[in-house]
Amino acid sequence: MKAVCWQGIGKVGVETVPDPQILNPRDAIIKVTSTAICGSDLHLYGGYVPTMFRGDILGHEFMGEVVEVGPGVTNLAVGDRVVVPFPISCGNCYFCEKELYSLCENSNPNAHLAEKFWGHSPAGIFGYSHITGGYAGGQAEYVRVPFADVGPLKVPDTLDDDKVLFLTDVLPTGYMAAEQCDIQPGDTVAVWGCGPVGLFSIQSAKLLGASFVIAIDRFPERLAKAKIAGADVTLNYEEHSVLTVLKDLTGGRGPDACIDAVGLEAHMHGATHIYDRVKQAMRLESDRPGALREAIVACRNGGVVSVPGVYGGLVDKMPVGSIVNKALTIKSGQTHVHRYMRPLLERIEKGEIDPSFIITHHLRLDEAPLGYEVFRNKEDECVKIVMKPDGQSLASHDHSHSSHVH
Ligand SMILES: [Zn+2]
Ligand SMILES: [Zn+2]
Repeated sequence: MKAVCWQGIGKVGVETVPDPQILNPRDAIIKVTSTAICGSDLHLYGGYVPTMFRGDILGHEFMGEVVEVGPGVTNLAVGDRVVVPFPISCGNCYFCEKELYSLCENSNPNAHLAEKFWGHSPAGIFGYSHITGGYAGGQAEYVRVPFADVGPLKVPDTLDDDKVLFLTDVLPTGYMAAEQCDIQPGDTVAVWGCGPVGLFSIQSAKLLGASFVIAIDRFPERLAKAKIAGADVTLNYEEHSVLTVLKDLTGGRGPDACIDAVGLEAHMHGATHIYDRVKQAMRLESDRPGALREAIVACRNGGVVSVPGVYGGLVDKMPVGSIVNKALTIKSGQTHVHRYMRPLLERIEKGEIDPSFIITHHLRLDEAPLGYEVFRNKEDECVKIVMKPDGQSLASHDHSHSSHVH
């Protein structure tokens, strides 16, 4: 089969690799019909996540058709159309029973590696380095799905791929980020980063009752999408001092909740950004936490800072005094996707959410190298790329989905 493989820093290629096989009774094989490139795939592409090997198959946002099931999978049948959550979860362990699926204790065969980095291991994740299991990902024609009796969710044929694909990650991730803010009527929420997770955080904050949502980014096309997602105010941080504007908009008090949907490759201004870039380049600091620092400093006393943005390792100059003296609550975590898929699918079915508004590009799977480059460089107003093994080419950049402000 064809698969998108990591070939080194800044290099992916489409290679012909062996088809996946059923290895365990609870496995299923899925024929992929749609798969997306995620912002966190860019962290792998950029070499920020250790334990990637040449030839590793990328991708953790994918859906498709069941073509084979192991004898332990009785809830799926060949021909079912399913979306697959990005964390791999057994459904039976201490954490799965508490619905903390991204912390499953049984799905990461390389838990010892993760323990070295983080103290304890999270769940295995598709296509996301060997620290999280070394599983082959879904940017491929076929993929093996372990614990297929627990993860995949059947989707109705009436909803096309573009409407349900994001149930695999970015929609539940944005939703969980907003849910963690414990939003009360009248609350103001500020969101750093208007990529897919930020956009769904904005939309979810509104669904959960936020009165006022402020979206922060530097790309006009992303800020335009933030408006579609429901942001009341958009803020270009290259034109304004974020901290000053947030104070002005909240009577000096600061937002009730702040969401960092940027993560470890934050782009910021000034001396501290240069400091982070230098330290990261020298491998003295693995992550650049500019957005997180600003979210902590901006948040009102007693507020919540929710962090769906991905961080991998160590950061510097964390304003811990601000956390303590302002009595902040910090909430984070890889998304417990299984918990959110069904209720969010119901909202999509009812027409309350149409997640396809974030898509700017459809590609064929074999155009992945170009897709990664365009997405990393934010070229061509790219926000989200969906690839289909038999899809259209990049030449057909779908302007009907994007509403640009011209
Ligand atoms: Zn993702
Ligand atoms: Zn488990």
